[in-house]
Amino acid sequence: MSKQYFGVHTMGGVITERDGVLCTIRLRMPAGILSVEKMRGIAEIAEKFGQEEVHLTTRQTVEIPHIHHTRLEEIKAALAENGTPLGSEKDEVVNIVACPGNDRCKFANSDSIRLAKRLDERLFGKEMPVKIRISISACSYACTSPVLNEVGITARVVPHRTPGQCTGCGQCTEYCREGAIGVIRGEARVDLEKCIECGVCVTSCPYKLIDIRKKYFLITVGGRRGRHPQIGRVLAEVDNEDDVVNIVDRMVYWVYRRAWSGRLLSDQLDDIKFDSFREEVLPGLLKKE
Ligand code: SF4
Ligand code: SF4
Ligand code: SF4
Repeated sequence: MSKQYFGVHTMGGVITERDGVLCTIRLRMPAGILSVEKMRGIAEIAEKFGQEEVHLTTRQTVEIPHIHHTRLEEIKAALAENGTPLGSEKDEVVNIVACPGNDRCKFANSDSIRLAKRLDERLFGKEMPVKIRISISACSYACTSPVLNEVGITARVVPHRTPGQCTGCGQCTEYCREGAIGVIRGEARVDLEKCIECGVCVTSCPYKLIDIRKKYFLITVGGRRGRHPQIGRVLAEVDNEDDVVNIVDRMVYWVYRRAWSGRLLSDQLDDIKFDSFREEVLPGLLKKE
C-alpha cells in the first residue's frame, strides 16, 4: 500500500531548522553512492534553492540545508528529476549504510553495496513504529559499526589451516592482528577463540595452506548509538545474500506489526522474549543453518 501524502513538509527527508522557517532536505542514497552527474545535479539544486552549501551526514547521505519552506515542493520535484529523491529521517527505514566492500576494499568478504541497494529497494522509507537503521560491513573490521544499528549485517569468514607442508615461516601470523595464529612445533595453528573471523589470513600463505572453512553473514538486531549505546543481539548466521534480504525483510515487517512507537527497538526487545522473536521471524530459515 502506498503512503498517504500529507504534504512535503511532513516527509521524513524534510527537517525543520531552529528558526522554524528554513528546512534541511535529506536525500535517499543507499551506501552513499552516487554518480558524478547526480552530484553535479545536487550542487546545482543546492545553489538554486539553498545557500550554496551541502552537508555530508553520518549515514552516508547528503543534506541540503536552509531551504525556505515555501519552496519544498519545487525542490522535491527537482531532486526526483535528478534521480536523488528525498530521503527519510523519522520513524522509518532510513538511509542504508554500507562499506565499500568488494567494489574497492582488499579485506572485503562480500558485495556490501549491492546488498545495500537490494535492501533499499525493498524497505527504504517504510513507515515504522520505530526508526530502523541498517548498516552493512563486508568484514569483521566493521567500518560501518553494524552492531550499533537496529539491523547490522557483517560478512565473516572462518579460516582453516589445511593439512599440508607448512614451513613454519610465520607469514600468516604477521597478517593476523588478533594474535590468533601461532606457529607451534613448526606448524601454523589458528586459535578460533581469538579469531574474529575477518578472513585476512586467507590470502597470506604463499603455499595457500589457509582456506575458508565457512563464509557467512552475521545479522544482529537492536543495536543503537546515541545516549545509551548498545550492541545488537545476534539474530542469525546465514550463508547467502538472498537469505539476508529475506530475513531482514521479514524482521522489519515483524517489527512493523508488533512494536509500538515512542521507544527504541532495543528497549522493546528487552520486553519481548528474544527467543520467540527469533522463532517468529525465522521459521524455516533457521533450519537451514
Ligand atoms: S568493513 Fe572490512 S571490507 Fe568494509 S571497508 Fe572496512 S575493512 Fe574494508
Ligand atoms: S580470520 Fe582474521 S582474526 Fe582469524 S586468524 Fe585469520 S587474520 Fe586472524
Ligand atoms: S600456513 Fe603458510 S604462511 Fe603460515 S606458517 Fe605455514 S607456510 Fe607459512
